[in-house]
Amino acid sequence: MAVQAVPSTATRIVRRDRGAAAVLAEADICVVGAGIAGISAALEAARLGRRVILADTLPVLGGQAVNSVIGLFAGLFSNGFDGYQLTRGIADDILRDLEAQKALHWRRGPPHKVVLYDEIALARWIEEAVRKAGITVLLGAVMREVDVEGGGRIREVRFAHRHGDVRVRATGFVDASGDAALCWQAGFACREFGDGTIYGTQMVVLEHVNEAALPTREELAARQAEVAARYGMLRHDGFAFPFVGRGIALVNMTHIETPLEPLAFSRCSLVGRHEADIAINFLKSEYPEAFGRARVRTYGYPGIRQTRWIVGRQQLTAEQVRNGTRFPDAVARTAWPIELHSHAEGYIWEPFPPEHMHYVPFGSLVPAEAQNVVAAGRCIDGDAAALSSVRVMGPGIAMGAAAAHALDLAGSGSVQQIDTAALVARVKDNVEGEGPRYN
Ligand SMILES: Cc1cc2nc3c(=O)[nH]c(=O)nc-3n(C[C@H](O)[C@H](O)[C@H](O)COP(=O)(O)OP(=O)(O)OC[C@H]3O[C@@H](n4cnc5c(N)ncnc54)[C@H](O)[C@@H]3O)c2cc1C
Repeated sequence: MAVQAVPSTATRIVRRDRGAAAVLAEADICVVGAGIAGISAALEAARLGRRVILADTLPVLGGQAVNSVIGLFAGLFSNGFDGYQLTRGIADDILRDLEAQKALHWRRGPPHKVVLYDEIALARWIEEAVRKAGITVLLGAVMREVDVEGGGRIREVRFAHRHGDVRVRATGFVDASGDAALCWQAGFACREFGDGTIYGTQMVVLEHVNEAALPTREELAARQAEVAARYGMLRHDGFAFPFVGRGIALVNMTHIETPLEPLAFSRCSLVGRHEADIAINFLKSEYPEAFGRARVRTYGYPGIRQTRWIVGRQQLTAEQVRNGTRFPDAVARTAWPIELHSHAEGYIWEPFPPEHMHYVPFGSLVPAEAQNVVAAGRCIDGDAAALSSVRVMGPGIAMGAAAAHALDLAGSGSVQQIDTAALVARVKDNVEGEGPRYN
């Protein structure tokens, strides 16, 4: 047998250069947060020909939509059995591509049309879309400092990464962090819930579920309310949605606190998993035919609903949501109920009639004190109830697109002074007309 030449096995000694400069990355638009709103913003900005950097503290893309296993697009259709699609853009592409992979399951109401998705298929869709768009990604990066010039213009954001520090310079920034982390770090005014806690949820995906024996949503919630104390469950009204044909159920049955203090937040992720196990014990014990053989396929990352959000030029109010106020600068719409998880046992659920529609004004995406920042997703400005009805994924995608267009229009100027009529014209498909119905 011939002996092959072995490549050199020599090693070398290295030592960190304490004086080494941070990596510098420059772009037209830097999007902080790679959840569904940030992904929409980044892809839309890239389509507009902008150089984009997309940064996230997680080492993966997709935010909660993927990593907390939300599993269901809500607020994307008008109410009723025959609801039409309200937000277009990447929502069109995701639905088309995941449908072709049989990675969607439709629940056509009434009262809502929603669509469950396979989170692994969505993760790969996002990764491929971002890769093909040529977007620079900075993953596993935590914001350390934000340089703000006078008048509220962010110049540079510094991130810590496991392999060293990175400085990102951009003309415009999108705060799609969910917690208004960019605006907070920049020192801009932010809002928190004034009166108690807004709960998150530890989501779980169960497999080997017997779909034929599943209880209805109402029956499940009634049983949970009856026996919650016996099992030690904090929440009394959860639900488990089947992904029909796959023996899978998405379990949303816990309430966990999601505080903004690092150690308390970290502890909550362990508490959440413990709570989820209690809920699974309840399901197996009360519904052995449906859940007796079920096993956990995935525990998501802690699901965070509302923590801290921006102080915008305008605050969306619950009254405007209930009245369906049509703002001249509307950039997103939805018909999703007010869904405020403000008490441990349950949540406020205020659904709207079939013809109802409410809107998100651009003013609630623009931090009042900033010149080159637009927020998108669950950290835009609303009162707690109003925000709870627009922080779902359908309008989140629309807000991301609007943020990209606003920064594109602003260029090196101010987002406070863009031509809002031009912005509204660019995103009109997300606020008027009827999209596909997929019936
Ligand atoms: C349990 C639960 C169930 C829900 N159910 C549904 C549902 O069925 N349907 C629906 O449509 N919506 C649902 N929602 C709401 C919806 O999931 C979220 O509001 C939506 O996914 C938020 O998207 P986002 O892009 O705004 O934020 P996120 O998905 O939270 O993304 C924010 C990203 O920013 C990153 N980030 C945060 N801080 C920093 C930082 N300092 N530096 C860098 N990156 C940072 C985060 O890591 C994250 O990836 C649910 C929410 C929860 C919690």
